[in-house]
Amino acid sequence: MQRSQTVCACTIAGSDPTGGAGIQADLSTFAAMGVWGLSVITALTAQTPERVDSTWVQPAPIVATQLKVLLEEFHIGAFKTGMLGDGSVIDTITDLLPEGVPLVVDPVLVSSSGHRLLAEEAIELLKERLLPRATVITPNLPETEVLSGLSPLCSDDEVIRAGKVLLDLGAAAVIIKGGHRAGARATDLLITASTVIPLSSFRRPYPVHGTGCCFSAALTALLARGYPLPTAAQEAKCLISRAVSTEPVGRSGMRMVDPLQ
Ligand code: PLP
Repeated sequence: MQRSQTVCACTIAGSDPTGGAGIQADLSTFAAMGVWGLSVITALTAQTPERVDSTWVQPAPIVATQLKVLLEEFHIGAFKTGMLGDGSVIDTITDLLPEGVPLVVDPVLVSSSGHRLLAEEAIELLKERLLPRATVITPNLPETEVLSGLSPLCSDDEVIRAGKVLLDLGAAAVIIKGGHRAGARATDLLITASTVIPLSSFRRPYPVHGTGCCFSAALTALLARGYPLPTAAQEAKCLISRAVSTEPVGRSGMRMVDPLQ
């Protein structure tokens, strides 16, 4: 019998009941990229597109069991991590993630509205244990400042220097997202030991909930499908530029990324 050729990717992240970020956004992005989506839920949240109300990090053994059972059944082409909540979840998944499979680490620290999504005391553990395992990490500018210890980051040279600090932590590549930087265009920088590749798009005049999650999920799906990192990064950037809800969803009027439109 012919074996299935379905490509699987797995997201290890928090639930966002709005569908705009977290696990729910990752799964719609995987579907949009033609990849079967597997998920391990690290935390429940209660939120609107504008505001995180509450979070409940799952006990590490529950996270571990979700991942172990998937690993027994599926051939997983790539993993991504998003909101991890606390240090015990970081320890658990780092112990279980298989070597040699692409890993995208979106180092989610704080939501755009200012709610902490990773305990402050877990940041060192993230740097010591998970970042060295990453094929690529996808911090935004505030996350880059916290993780590199370099702040404020204004010029391209400063951002590239911070990227090199993150490479020194052991990640194979870094994409520093440009959404928080000034300028008419939002330019991300893909930084490896030997190259710096700018990924540019126009800047939207309104905030959009969930762009970071969808970008890292698209990247994960494309790596699972075997694309080289620079091509995967360009394609993921194109998807995010296109995929914004045509109309505001919900009462607050906030825009969300809609990779399936
Ligand atoms: N909720 C979850 C579960 C997330 O993973 C994230 C971001 O990664 C957010 C909320 C916050 O999203 P945003 O900063 O786009 O509002």
